[in-house]
Amino acid sequence: MSTPFWIAGKPVTSVETATVYHSYDGSEAGVHSVPSASDVETALQAAHDARAETAALPAHTRAAALDHISRTLAERAEEFARLITAESAKPITWARAEVGRAVSTFRWAAEEARRFSGELQRLDTDPGATGRIALVRRVPRGPVLGITPFNFPLNLVAHKVAPALAVGAPIVLKPAPATPLTALALGELLAETDLPAGSWSVLPVGNDVAAELVTDPRLPIVSFTGSVPVGWRIRDAVPRKHVALELGGNAATVVCPDWSDLDFAAKRIATFAMYQAGQSCIAVQRVYAHADVFDDLAERVVQQVGTLGTGDPRSPHTQVGPLIDVAAAERVESWVDEAIAAGAQRRLGGRRDGATVEPTVLTDVPEDASVMADEVFGPVVCVNPVDSVDDAFRLVNDSRFGLQTGVFTRDLPTAFQASATLDVGGVVVGDVPSFRADQMPYGGVKDSGVGREGPAAAMADFTEERVTVLTGL
Ligand code: NAD
Repeated sequence: MSTPFWIAGKPVTSVETATVYHSYDGSEAGVHSVPSASDVETALQAAHDARAETAALPAHTRAAALDHISRTLAERAEEFARLITAESAKPITWARAEVGRAVSTFRWAAEEARRFSGELQRLDTDPGATGRIALVRRVPRGPVLGITPFNFPLNLVAHKVAPALAVGAPIVLKPAPATPLTALALGELLAETDLPAGSWSVLPVGNDVAAELVTDPRLPIVSFTGSVPVGWRIRDAVPRKHVALELGGNAATVVCPDWSDLDFAAKRIATFAMYQAGQSCIAVQRVYAHADVFDDLAERVVQQVGTLGTGDPRSPHTQVGPLIDVAAAERVESWVDEAIAAGAQRRLGGRRDGATVEPTVLTDVPEDASVMADEVFGPVVCVNPVDSVDDAFRLVNDSRFGLQTGVFTRDLPTAFQASATLDVGGVVVGDVPSFRADQMPYGGVKDSGVGREGPAAAMADFTEERVTVLTGL
């Protein structure tokens, strides 16, 4: 029997099914039912009809539901981790880490649901408003359409579902076609809560149906995480909707001359350039190392990357698994070849076997090579020398992307300079750009997107202020 999808909180199976395959060996990860046009219509109307009931839920009910999901996810952690690995080919160690993060994302959202409130604003700073105050409440903008990518099948789903339910907004979730099974399994935990049935649906539909969901007026908020072109096309398609975009990047790391622990920097760079085979929007892609430390750092990065084993993602010994499909691996391989033809030095890797690309280190890479200028989304790290920290910061900013940047320095003025001048959503001082704690505001500028995630930030984003002026009290 196929895995059901979820329409208005109820599991539904259908005659039409889709099979999800493991990219490592082509084995079957699972078969799920595919919603029909009328199932989709039912879900949309249910979300629309459930607006008032969902918004009226007391904070304790919303928080209890989110706590329940967090708790049961923790109890079923290994099952979810194996499912993530089966459908995304993410190494099991990283899949376990993702489940842990999703547990925390739901727990944070529960806490924020208890805290979430408006404010009381005094208006009598103006003589004409003497005796008046404003009660500023935050009310849901309406049902949320959450669209998620393949690379974090659980935690990025959590970052849509948890804040929506925390503020009392219905959610229609559309997971990635390559990795819908984890989101469908999450439906089992949602179904155990006291949330109104109409307040949530999980629709494993394809891109064409997703595009129709985007333009449906019953879903006034679109919260999208995925690739740059799709994201901006969505925003252009619905200029009057509230659209949040969490898109791609080419995250940079700057290694300053004062940073003495090059072993640590190299280990962090190697780990987070290659984790999930580089399929993370904040995987380390560009490294700018000051000329004083460049040779030592590059050598250590090559050495560290060389210790990372590729192979079957189901093995706990595999650090770098395959990409999501062979086409993605072919693209990465061709970008590496293009960079080498343009003068880059190949220090390690660069070859492909099926969907697996060898962990690859390039140095002295031209800035306009695709592996520098575009999003690699593969296990490739480029290490270039710079003459000064100013030069490094200029090169970081000379990109159409701006998600996060890592700066290895212990120098306080340099840290502040990074924080003040780098045109990105986040600066990580003393580590790689790949650090993300799920409660912090997270998102990008320029082509990398608009809006911020993290339960509190997304809850603000999914709501708007409603003012009640109280007179003569
Ligand atoms: P993708 O853009 O191909 O797909 C993302 C989602 O969009 C999928 O669910 C897909 O079905 C849907 N989709 C595709 N076409 C659509 C359309 N026309 N209308 C509506 N929905 C449509 O991205 P992907 O390959 O799954 O994910 C990789 C990308 O996601 C990378 O660029 C990565 O950087 C980005 N990403 C960003 C973040 C972040 O937080 N900034 C996090 C993870 C991944």
